[in-house]
Amino acid sequence: MSQAPEPVLKAGLYIVATPIGNLGDIAPRAIAALRGVAAVACEDTRMTGKLFHHLGIKQRLIRYDDHADERARDRILDLAETEPVALVSDAGTPLISDPGYRLVRAARERGIAVTSVPGPSAAIVALTLAGLPTDRFLFAGFLPPRDKARRAVLHELASVRATLVFYESGPRLAASLAAIGEMLPGREVAVARELTKLYEECRTGTPGKLAAHYAANPPKGEIVLLVGPPQAEPAALGAAAVDALLIAALKNAKASRAAADVARAHGLDRKALYARALELK
Ligand code: SAM
Repeated sequence: MSQAPEPVLKAGLYIVATPIGNLGDIAPRAIAALRGVAAVACEDTRMTGKLFHHLGIKQRLIRYDDHADERARDRILDLAETEPVALVSDAGTPLISDPGYRLVRAARERGIAVTSVPGPSAAIVALTLAGLPTDRFLFAGFLPPRDKARRAVLHELASVRATLVFYESGPRLAASLAAIGEMLPGREVAVARELTKLYEECRTGTPGKLAAHYAANPPKGEIVLLVGPPQAEPAALGAAAVDALLIAALKNAKASRAAADVARAHGLDRKALYARALELK
């Protein structure tokens, strides 16, 4: 396919978002930038090559990730000093659980202009579908694969009064739902899968309900896992609601642990909850 002449871009680094599944989501400004730059830094030249083939773009591709040594970074930035250079990732917005942070930081330190050409990001698409509060959210990337480290992260985030957003994979979903059920009892959860693709779905419910669904229907494809914020005001939680939270937590933990988890997640008094947990046990 022949390429129409594009407006001349100024020298600098262009952070260009690409689709997360549906190729129709590439922005016209992204196409113009990808055509107009002198070279494109990318995570995987094969993946980016496929996208460019679909878009009819011929470009010089340079492999880059944030673990590349400083010389590789310097070579890209040497070029960006005099020519426009783009950074893309395999899918979605670069730097969001993808390489680019070190490159942007180094570009800024060198006084090289950085321009963002925005587009899809799975975290934001999931937030628009889940029906969970969006006024405050905390994007926390991937949960660690090991159970102890995963629980430590959930412990750290338990008192955050915002919707939590995680990237997740099908094989790890069950373990993450189980850990969320234990560490953040009483929260509403959403699983947003295959966003912008043919089999896009978004399911909401308790971690237990979603775990049962996905045990029967092993999840395929890419996943965003969202956890609703703790109940609005601790004082608004009635005794019956507190009992329900404790009973759920007691299914998987001793009284002291159940009380501590519910107290932390809902801003309640741990000692009082411990006494009540012993009564309920
Ligand atoms: N930079 C990308 C972005 O802006 O969304 C994310 C890259 S991260 C390496 C890849 C993860 O994003 C996947 O494992 C999945 O959790 C999530 N993801 C990417 N595309 C997705 C999609 N179409 N549906 C659901 N989740 C997706």
